[in-house]
This record gives sequence, structure tokens and C-alpha cells, in this order.
Amino acid sequence: MLDAGIHPAYQGMASLPFYDDFDLSTVDVLLISHFHLDHAASLPYVMQKTNFNGRVFMTHPTKAIYRWLLRDFVRVTSIGVNSPLDREENLYTNEDLVESFDKIETVDYHSTIDVNGIKFTAFHAGHVLGAAMFQIEIAGMRVLFTGDYSREKDRHLNSAEVPPLSSNILIVESTFGTATHEPRLNREKKLTQMIHHTVSHGGRVLMPVFALGRAQELMLILDEYWAQHAEELGDGQVPIYYASNLARKCMSVFQTYVNMMNDDIRKKFRDSQTNPFIFKNISYLKNLEEFQDLGPSVMLASPGMLQSGLSRDLLERWCPDEKNLVLITGYSIEGTMAKYLMLEPDTIPSVNNPEVTVARRCNIEEISFAAHVDFQENLEFIQKINATNIILVHGESNPMGRLKSAILSNFNALKGTENEVHVFNPRNCVDVDLEFKGVKIAKAVGNIVDEIDKDDLENLLSTDTAQSSDGSEKHQSKEDGTAKAVEEEETTNQDTVHDVVVSGILVSDEKNYDLNLVSLSDLREHHTELSTTILRERQTVYVNCKKELIYWHICQMFGVVDVLVDEEDITHKLNVKIEKEIEDGTISKESSKLILKVMGDIRLTVVDNMAILEWTQGLISDTVADSIIAILMSVDSAPASVKMSSTCNHSHGHDEVSDNTAKIEEELEQHSQVWKIKQISNLFREQFGETFTIFLDKLTEAKSNDTEDILGAVTIGKNEARINFSKMRVEECNSNPLKGRVESLLKIGSDLVASLC
Ligand SMILES: [Zn+2]
Ligand SMILES: [Zn+2]
Repeated sequence: MLDAGIHPAYQGMASLPFYDDFDLSTVDVLLISHFHLDHAASLPYVMQKTNFNGRVFMTHPTKAIYRWLLRDFVRVTSIGVNSPLDREENLYTNEDLVESFDKIETVDYHSTIDVNGIKFTAFHAGHVLGAAMFQIEIAGMRVLFTGDYSREKDRHLNSAEVPPLSSNILIVESTFGTATHEPRLNREKKLTQMIHHTVSHGGRVLMPVFALGRAQELMLILDEYWAQHAEELGDGQVPIYYASNLARKCMSVFQTYVNMMNDDIRKKFRDSQTNPFIFKNISYLKNLEEFQDLGPSVMLASPGMLQSGLSRDLLERWCPDEKNLVLITGYSIEGTMAKYLMLEPDTIPSVNNPEVTVARRCNIEEISFAAHVDFQENLEFIQKINATNIILVHGESNPMGRLKSAILSNFNALKGTENEVHVFNPRNCVDVDLEFKGVKIAKAVGNIVDEIDKDDLENLLSTDTAQSSDGSEKHQSKEDGTAKAVEEEETTNQDTVHDVVVSGILVSDEKNYDLNLVSLSDLREHHTELSTTILRERQTVYVNCKKELIYWHICQMFGVVDVLVDEEDITHKLNVKIEKEIEDGTISKESSKLILKVMGDIRLTVVDNMAILEWTQGLISDTVADSIIAILMSVDSAPASVKMSSTCNHSHGHDEVSDNTAKIEEELEQHSQVWKIKQISNLFREQFGETFTIFLDKLTEAKSNDTEDILGAVTIGKNEARINFSKMRVEECNSNPLKGRVESLLKIGSDLVASLC
């Protein structure tokens, strides 16, 4: 959240920004650009009266001045508030101000603060003492908020800085729109001449000023002029007053922060050993009671927009006299007396007595010393910042609209390019949605860096060798310069094309939106809040069959299987009558163990009637483990098993073993083929229902007669497809769509029953 001001032309709740439209509890950081009321005066309200829970930052001088300024604001706005109802209208009390004040944190210029990943840096903004621009880095984007700023070096402040880092978004003030300031020297000259003219003709000059900021700049000008023209001005016969409740306090703050001002004023301070803010020709007035209004005088009085208070009282006193002059030097907001006066009205309403109107005969002049950029200064700054998204704030809609058009036409050449400049002048409460398609760069951290370096090195080495062999060949064939140039170009291309692929874990750091690429083993070290977990899964299945059966089925499914432990040696003598050996006492049944490793990581241990499956969780491992469990659960009922068990039981002697093995394997192969066809035929039944027939009786024949294929048919009306399941193809079909459908189903079916390896 940037700034928390009030509208100076309104009072109470009506002067607040549209806080109801926002959930202030979601704000992490609130940055106050400077102490002016339109930027800071609703801060105690936000901090004390809403659900705002974030941290508030401002510069040291802003905080120092803010304190006095807001205390005065509370005092002035509660004048004439007597009934409790009226008091309700008051935004906050002095207690609120004091309580919130201690919670405000200060920020030094050029230092960066990080709050929950939101980084911000304050830069000088010119404008008034302590005014800051904030460059905020959030979610990898940089936003520059100018606040109110000036690019003109004046008597005490430096002009606004251009931050060294670029910004993606610029939120910039548009106060003066496309207007152009007169050169500063001209304005100073005009100002002093006008004042001189008025006082030398017996008139009084009222300069409504904001208590702090530009008032001090004007005093520097006037004090110097009075010193230089002492004789003409009657040697102290024309007094200058600075009338403000805060005059002395504010001056002491200014005297404190001379070191934050520009070189000129610091030099003056150093050389003369006197504080430049201790004025020889200006006196302070705390209130009008102590003011003896005897003749010509110059009065700088707050508030600046003549709403109420000292300046308003003086206005009402002096405006009927045509010799007097009201000189407006600040920026006046619509709806205020200062703005109204510019229309040179015949009468003005009295603030303390609404039934009375006061005649206005005095002169009204405006010379702007408001330290805001004019169009040219603003445009130059915008060009320097070079952001592609510009959001205009702080100004009335018409000048803002004109400024938008002027900026757009200035950047017209970039239209349609990727650097096209977008300018927004949103109305209150209207969202601005910006899209960014930036390149995100992830930092490689930890061990993964070594991997990259190694790979990179290898790649470079291999490219180097390729280059030299290429090069020598080309030199032999062509020896003119052009060939050489072409060759060089080619080799550089080779370099850039050679990408290194590294895999790791991409971690987005919530705190500063950085992306890190780390290897799994490093994760804990670089991101302590993250931990790695390896899930080992274990499943135990009761199996009522021999280990060799399990082994055989698993080999059928997965091909090569690693045998880790095989105490009965079943994997070598597949169908040796083991029971006999157990009876002989060669192998103890209790201790016999079979441990297999399937597809890398899956470990199957079979002891007695228990099969224990262990694996590390993962997409592939889980699937493989599932199919092993399916095998384990059906292994004793599978037809091949029955066959094998019976063979085992009936075989005698070692000579028959090898013979039998071959025979069994052949039969099992056939069994497996039949099993697969059965599965595929189930698929066909699902798809075609009653219209599908398979000649399953042939299955039995198939066993006795190897040459006989298994056939099936799909008959839909006149269309018929005859299918050879043994050869997995359509033998005959009178309809192409049907044929296509059957063929694709055969394809799906054969994929489904295919073993994984
Ligand atoms: Zn301001
Ligand atoms: Zn402002």
C-alpha cells in the first residue's frame, strides 16, 4: 500500500480514500512517501481504526515532521466540534496518533528493506524534506512509485533521483499534466517584485502556505531578498511573519535535517556556522493575538488552501482592501478556498460565521512554487525510467488524460513492438491488470552446479575436437578467406546450440520469489523449511504355492529378474522335485528363502507361504508392484500353474527333468497365448456384446492341434468381420468401418496383454 492521505477539500470520513473497497488486513507493507496531508493524514486512522495489520515505513524527517503536523491536524479539525456526534466525525484522536506513532518504522535513503519477500528502497524525491520515491520489488517485478516529486534543484533540496535499477512499472504523479513551469529564476523575480510592489504601496501580502515544505523554500527566498534590499524596504519597516501553530517546532526539524538537503545549503551551513533556517528577517507568529497589524507586512500563513485556521482568518480580514495581495504559491485542490479564489469572486463566505459574506477586493495572484514536475520534466524522467507500464496518479482527470495522450504520442514509435508503452489513468477503485511474459531465471544451487560444470566442460571439449577436425578438412579443400569466415560462423553456432540439460528440483522461494534449481540431496541444506521423504511400501501376500511357480510367472511377466537369494536353488532346477530333497534333509524348509529384484527397485521376498513385496513409491514402481501382487494372488489358480504343479509331482529322476522342462515350457507358452486371447475376447465382448462370437471350442482343439487358429466373428446386420485371434488380424470383412474398428481393438488388446518388458 502506497500512502494513506486525505482529500484536503473534505472533512471527516468524506476525506478518506475508498478504504471500504479494500481489505486492509491483506496489506503487508504500507509506505508513506512524504508528510503532506494528502499522503499521510489518514495513517493513524488506518493503523488504529481498521483491520490493517501490516508494517508502516517512512523516512526519518518525514516521521519527525509528520508527528507535529498531524497533531496540528487533529487540533484544527476538532475546532468547533462540541457534540459527541461531531466528534464521531473526527477520524482519530491525539491518543490514536501517539499510539500509532511508535509503530511507524523508519527507512534510510538508498537502503533496502525486505518484509516477507517484498523488497523496497527509498530514493530522494525532491518535493519536500524527507520525501521519498519507493522502488518496490515484488514477485520478481520492480515498481517505482514517485510520490510527489520534483526534478528541479531548489534552494534547499536536491532533485529526484533516477534509481540505478530498471523498473517494470512506473506509478507517477500527474499533478501538472501537460503544463509547463516558467523558469525558476523568472518565478522568483516575479514573486519578489510583486511583493515589493504591494508593500511599497502600503499593502499587505498574504501567502497561504502549507506549514512545512515549500514554506521554508519561500522563506529562504524572501530572507535573502530582504537582506539584499534592506534600504529600499525601509530597514526592517516591513516585517515578514511566518504564522503557524507549528512554526518553531517545524523550523527546529528543518534545522536538524540540514544534512539531508542539497550541497548549497550544507555549504552555507558549514561556512557561516549559522543555520540557514534561522532567518534574520522573518519572525514567528503562533497565533494572531500577538500580531500587531499596523502597516505593510508579508505573512506566510498556514494552512495552504485557506480552508480554516490562521490563513483563513487573515484572508477574511484583509481581502476587502484592494491594496492587499493574496499570493498563492502552492498547488490548490478543487473544492478548497484557494482554488475558489482564483476565480476572483466578489465575495467569500466567512468560515466562522456562515451567514456572513466578506467582500473581496484584494488582488489574487498565483505563482507556483509547488515542487511538482511539469510536463517536460515528467516526460524526461519517464523516459529515463524506461518502464513499459505507466500508471498516472495524483491529479485531476482532465490534465491526467492530456498527459496520457502526450506520453503515448511521445512513445508512438514503439507501438506494436515488445517495448510498447502502456499508460493507465485509472479512476478511483478501478483495478489495473498488467500481464508480464518475462523470462524466469532459476539459480542453480549446490551440488547441481558441479554437475552442470562437468557436463558443460565435456560438451565444450567435444565441440572443440569437432571444430579442429572440421577445420582442418575445410582448409584442405578451400583456402580462400571466405571459406574461413563461413567456417568460423558455423563453429560459433555449434557452441550456442549445445544446450546442457540438467534435472533437479525447482524451488520457488516464497520469501523473495527467486527460483532455485537444486538436486534432491541438497534440498534440505538450501531450503531448510522443505524436507524430502522417501516412501517405502511393503505388502505381504499369502501364497499357497511353490516358489518356482512364483518365479516362473514373474519371469513370464517381466523377462529378466535378478535373483538375490535363492536358498533352494529353484531358479536353476525349475521343476526338480524339491519336496524329496526336503525329506532328505538337504534343505530346511523353514529357512529357505527366495529374494527377487524386479525392474530395478522392487524386492520380492518369499518365505514359506508369505510373499513380501517392498518398493520405493513412484509412478512406475507402483504399477509394477500392483501387477506382481496380481500375479501372487492368482498364481495358484492359473491354468499354467496347475499344469506345472502336476508335472512337478509326476516327474522322476534327473534325466526326465530337462525333457519335461522343455515340454512344460512349450505348453505354458501355449497356455499364455490362450490366456491372452481370452483377455482380448473379453474386450471384444465389452465392445460388441451379443454380436461377437469366439469359437472357444476350438481352444481345446488348439491344444491337440497346433495348426488350428483361434477364430472369432463380429456380425452386425449384413456386415461381418471374421477375426483370426492367433494371428491377431481380420481375415475377412465386408465393411471398412467395421474392419477399422476391429483392427484398432485388436491393436489395443495386444498392447494390453503385452508383457511390460
Ligand atoms: Zn506533496
Ligand atoms: Zn500530494
